[in-house]
Amino acid sequence: MSQQEARSVTVRAPAKINLFLGVGPVRPDGYHPLATVYQAIALYDDVTVTDDERWSVQLTGESRIDLAEVPADDTNIAIRAGRLLVEHHGLGERAARIEIHKGIPVAGGLAGGSADAAATLVALDRLWDLQTPDDELLELAGRLGSDVPFALLGGTAAGTGRGELVEPVADTGSWWWLVVENDEGLSTPAVYAAFDRLAHEIGDGTVADPIIPPALLAALAEGDVAGLAASVGNHLTDPALLLRPDLAHTFEDAEAAGALVALLSGSGPTVLLLCESMAHAHIVHREMVDKGHTRVSAVPAPVSGVHVVTSPW
Ligand code: ATP
Repeated sequence: MSQQEARSVTVRAPAKINLFLGVGPVRPDGYHPLATVYQAIALYDDVTVTDDERWSVQLTGESRIDLAEVPADDTNIAIRAGRLLVEHHGLGERAARIEIHKGIPVAGGLAGGSADAAATLVALDRLWDLQTPDDELLELAGRLGSDVPFALLGGTAAGTGRGELVEPVADTGSWWWLVVENDEGLSTPAVYAAFDRLAHEIGDGTVADPIIPPALLAALAEGDVAGLAASVGNHLTDPALLLRPDLAHTFEDAEAAGALVALLSGSGPTVLLLCESMAHAHIVHREMVDKGHTRVSAVPAPVSGVHVVTSPW
């Protein structure tokens, strides 16, 4: 292999949380319309791409991550992202080896797969000097998955459509979250199916179109942590609790540990605890560990979207 072919690019991509996740009635194409506010948090996957004759994925990760849950074949969303970029630019048989180092829990409602897809798009774009315009990258990202465009953007953003239409929102806060991971993942489609079931069983089957709470946007703009605690929300909480009643204990423990508020992350099962400051996060962290929650991280937010970490140029 020549030196040119052995060049690599490494890109870092953040996990996302949903400060608000409003879910509307299921559409004819099977998707639910969303009104959401995303925030990028300081938990990352690193993706390294190197020219190769065929597509492959190699997985490594931090010790707490269950890599067995991540496919290492063509179904990995990073390979799907790579193939889509090749098709978009008409690059024929071009392929790459994709190494993913996971720091984002798998199937945790933190969009780790989406982060890898976004990172792969940006890494290959740089490796092959494609100079894909931002709007084209966002469009390709939206085709890969609802959460992929936000991973490109990072920061704090409103998401509409099925979450893929992203627009930055004003956020002056320096927020601290505790991320309480769970031993077992939760399937996103299963949680949405439970959402539809509950709408029929408890309500009359009709679901209102969701709206992002103005109070949430005001709290973000002002950096008001009490206001944020009072206005976060997630319409997937009841369906997730239906599938995983044990999560109720995490919410109870969070309250007893002094968190400002506890929030299900996306479709779960990760639970997020909002804290007043880094010092407060450390106190609540100790309490949660004492209560038996072993995988708890204190992370700041918001952070940048995907960014190049190392490249030979
Ligand atoms: P989502 O809401 O997008 O399902 P999530 O955070 O709950 O997000 P992910 O970690 O993105 O879940 O993984 C969802 C599923 O996608 C996994 O169970 C796994 O089978 C599959 N998957 C495909 N590629 C990847 C990848 N690169 N990293 C993680 N999971 C992947």
